[in-house]
Amino acid sequence: MSTQTVQNLHDLGSASAAAKTSVGQPRAALSVVRDLPPRRLPQVEARLPLTVAHDHGVPTVHRTVVDAANFDHGATTPALISVRDAVELALPTYGSVHRGAGRASRVTTDWFEQARVTIGEFVGARTGDEVIFTRNTTDSLALLAHCAPRGTRVFAWESAHHAALLPWGRRNCTRLGVPNSATDAVDLLRSALQTSQARSTLVVITGACNVSGEVWPIKELIAVAKQFGARTVIDAAQLAPHRRIDLKELGADWIAFSGHKLYAPFGTGVLIGRRDWLDLAAPYLPGGGATAKVTHRHTAWQPGAARHEGGTPNAIGAIALATACHTISTHRQEIERHERVLADRLRAGLRAIDGVRLVSVLGEDRPNVGVVTFTVEGYDPSLVSLVLSDEYGISVRDGRFCAHLLCDNVLGEGATAVRASIGLATRADHVQRLIDGLRNLVESGPALHYSFDETGGWTTQEDPRDLSVQRPW
Ligand code: PMP
Repeated sequence: MSTQTVQNLHDLGSASAAAKTSVGQPRAALSVVRDLPPRRLPQVEARLPLTVAHDHGVPTVHRTVVDAANFDHGATTPALISVRDAVELALPTYGSVHRGAGRASRVTTDWFEQARVTIGEFVGARTGDEVIFTRNTTDSLALLAHCAPRGTRVFAWESAHHAALLPWGRRNCTRLGVPNSATDAVDLLRSALQTSQARSTLVVITGACNVSGEVWPIKELIAVAKQFGARTVIDAAQLAPHRRIDLKELGADWIAFSGHKLYAPFGTGVLIGRRDWLDLAAPYLPGGGATAKVTHRHTAWQPGAARHEGGTPNAIGAIALATACHTISTHRQEIERHERVLADRLRAGLRAIDGVRLVSVLGEDRPNVGVVTFTVEGYDPSLVSLVLSDEYGISVRDGRFCAHLLCDNVLGEGATAVRASIGLATRADHVQRLIDGLRNLVESGPALHYSFDETGGWTTQEDPRDLSVQRPW
């Protein structure tokens, strides 16, 4: 690595350090929702490296503008300030990775390769583990499915996100039932592996459930898998942003997660772990960069990450993700404390409202990453999320969360629910606003008259807002 690049990497660190000192000031709400008194922010929030891209006002149907209350971190997160700064810092010297002798190309290549190291360290990768850049968790798990040797038997619980349940192909995958406790999950796996005859076996473990937020008994499941010589992959899409993970300690073979759920929404995900299956497999994206030599008769492919990263990689995405990993690991304890305080308040507040039912899969005492799914008696979940957005400036998600088999099991066939997921853009006053808004809804109904039709969903004729949005370009 050149001296100049080392200097630049240094700058990258100080950019995020500078950002840390300038952030975290309580942002003035442009206006406060009717009837909801402003709350004091807890001390811990003022020290957090708060996210940047979410500082915007939301017009409500009450002709007020409130600051956006983000309860949709489980779907995607805004960018950290340190990430935005790192991207800005990387752009003036942006160039092609592994493809040029020019200075920009060399600097970007150094940063891209350094990003692998930082991201690997973030999850405690072992010497020899590969860090492969992908688009997102879906892509990472599809890459592993592509690399699994022919005949590999995959075990996955029906509660998994579709990205973790579907890439293996129906015939190769044994689906375990939805467990009702952590012990049940372990028992289901043990009995399935006891009767398996497969020579090559892979167990797909959800880190944290994207519906209930519950953290799975990863260590115990890996121990059982190892007992039967099975390999393991952790779908850490929901876990990595919220909890420390150490591959060395856990002994998992692979882990997958997405940048856009980890405050680095620049189009990068990763698959990290053992090399052997990856090096033996055909390239995932055959093309430039993946080849060692091409002749008329034969193509020799690169080993390692390059084999599966054909084409020009997303260097900015990799730099963004590495920066997010660095910032999050630096602030891990504060972040966990912030999220735990808010999640506890949210759960307690929701439980106290008549007619609101929280979804649990593994049991209410399981550790949770701050994802809460619930139903409101008498209200269609999509109306609940519309009312929260239109009347209170709160964003949540409703639906079946790409986990249809799990939703059928815990909600009933075809049923939907509302999901509120907290993160660094969520504040204590947002939690209170959500609780108050739901209580208002349950006690007094929506402020406007909403109607439903099959094509347009829920709408209201009484909305006074101009909802047109300007394009950023
Ligand atoms: N696994 C889980 C548990 C998820 O929550 C998600 C995203 N909702 C995914 C996998 C897929 O992630 P991505 O959309 O980034 O590919």
